[in-house]
Amino acid sequence: MTEVKYVFVTGGVASSLGKGIISSSLAKLLQSRGYNVTIQKLDPYINVDPGTLNPYEHGECYVTIDGAETDLDLGHYERFLNVHTTQANNVTTGRIYKTVIEKERRGDYLGKTVQVIPHITDEIKRSIKLVGTNGEYDIVITEIGGTVGDIESLPYIEAVRQMKWDQGLNNCVVIHLTLVPYLNATGEHKTKPTQHSVKTLLEAGIQPDVLVLRTEMELTEDVKEKVALFCNVDKQSVVQSVDVSSIYEVPIKMLEEGLDKTVLNRLKLDLKKDPPLIKWRDFLRKQSNPREKVTIGLVGKYVELADAYKSITESFAHGGAANECQVDLQLIHSEEIIPENVSSQLEHLDGIIVAPGFGPRGIEGKITAVKYARENNIPFFGICLGMQCAVIEFARNVLNFDKADSTEMNPKTEYPVIDLMEEQKSITYKGGTMRLGGYKCRLSKDSKVYGAYEKSEIIERHRHRYEFNNKYLKDYAEAGMIATGINPESDLVEIVEIPDHKWFVGVQFHPEYSSTVVNPHPLFVEFIKACCSKKNDME
Ligand code: GLN
Repeated sequence: MTEVKYVFVTGGVASSLGKGIISSSLAKLLQSRGYNVTIQKLDPYINVDPGTLNPYEHGECYVTIDGAETDLDLGHYERFLNVHTTQANNVTTGRIYKTVIEKERRGDYLGKTVQVIPHITDEIKRSIKLVGTNGEYDIVITEIGGTVGDIESLPYIEAVRQMKWDQGLNNCVVIHLTLVPYLNATGEHKTKPTQHSVKTLLEAGIQPDVLVLRTEMELTEDVKEKVALFCNVDKQSVVQSVDVSSIYEVPIKMLEEGLDKTVLNRLKLDLKKDPPLIKWRDFLRKQSNPREKVTIGLVGKYVELADAYKSITESFAHGGAANECQVDLQLIHSEEIIPENVSSQLEHLDGIIVAPGFGPRGIEGKITAVKYARENNIPFFGICLGMQCAVIEFARNVLNFDKADSTEMNPKTEYPVIDLMEEQKSITYKGGTMRLGGYKCRLSKDSKVYGAYEKSEIIERHRHRYEFNNKYLKDYAEAGMIATGINPESDLVEIVEIPDHKWFVGVQFHPEYSSTVVNPHPLFVEFIKACCSKKNDME
């Protein structure tokens, strides 16, 4: 087995500089040169996973096919690489400590004092190596969350320092991403914050090999030379990352900057070939030359933070390009929709999507939005809670089930059309206990979804506790809402449709987690197509 090579990506100066996008872009370039690459995220917070975090805290929680609730950066990794990630691709401080404490209780360290170094750092190193042990990957890129100098990221930085020596200097590269601000008053770029940030890394015993400088405007050669001189790297290893309009342009920018070559040279690996990126460039061409434009409303309650719906937003970018259509996605606050204002809020839309979510806040606004879409024949797409809202709305307004509800919102409702899954009833712990990850679903042949997927069995990812109550299946079918996707093992309803409507699909799973640049999700592609056709009908 060939030796696995490691690339570490750290960040300095400020948070949110886009380490995830730089890691994904580098991985894309290495992959298209012919290497098998995966990306891992180490998160320095104490939660065992982000599943228990409010989206306002940390953005969307991304779910892998094997059912791990993970950081939203893993979504970028999959969207760029078109390769599945797993539980091993996201590790938090909470998970590291949990494992070490369990080992201590088991007696694995009998007689020893358990300490941050070596026990916590050893566990971090074990988690880093674990991703590469199945022999699938030539290169593992590990992104260290947070900013260097943070107290909580110290054990990770120490683990990286040790890895450089354990694995050998030709087998590890450290890329440090910083910000180079531009001062309008003096008309110049400032490198001092980068110098300080590199000093902080040096204090921790790490000399970065490559510096990626995030900047709003092109850097001059002088600025790069200055950074190289002060930070002990050669000039080729100073790479700029200028702001671009789409995150998907970053791999092309990094290719122009030679980031992939610099990294491969450092790792003593062959360049193999120039990255062809044919499908990627085709996507970019379509994305920047749309023939049509549609306006779609995303009704949700976390609209103040766009990251809360990251995978949905990106799925629209993929599906939009596939249709050569620009999707203007408007985030609409579900708490602000009431029957009296619904038409003024939604009448300009070519399509309506109701978002996933938890708890009763904003639920009535979502149900009102579904009713508007259903009654006005506006293409509708409901995801998870969005599908459940469609089921509740249909019960209340078509089946005349007075105050029908999900038992999540009203445990005493007379018509529990959405109810807790049987296996959920005895669960008390909230962390990692939902119905999570990939499940099979069988599609009915004469449905919109079958037309989209063009196959009768699919696997999609789930993250929920409640489900369609099969007791009412017949009532729904008779009144025109059909279950067109069923889990073949449990008989759970995974998809509902209204065949008489232009395009009305609700899915209990999360299609947005599996849409990628080169494989846009068929349901997003078809939904956008229906929105285009609705718009054209009106014109
Ligand atoms: N709150 C709902 C449930 O638990 C829907 C979850 C979701 O939208 N992800 O079933």
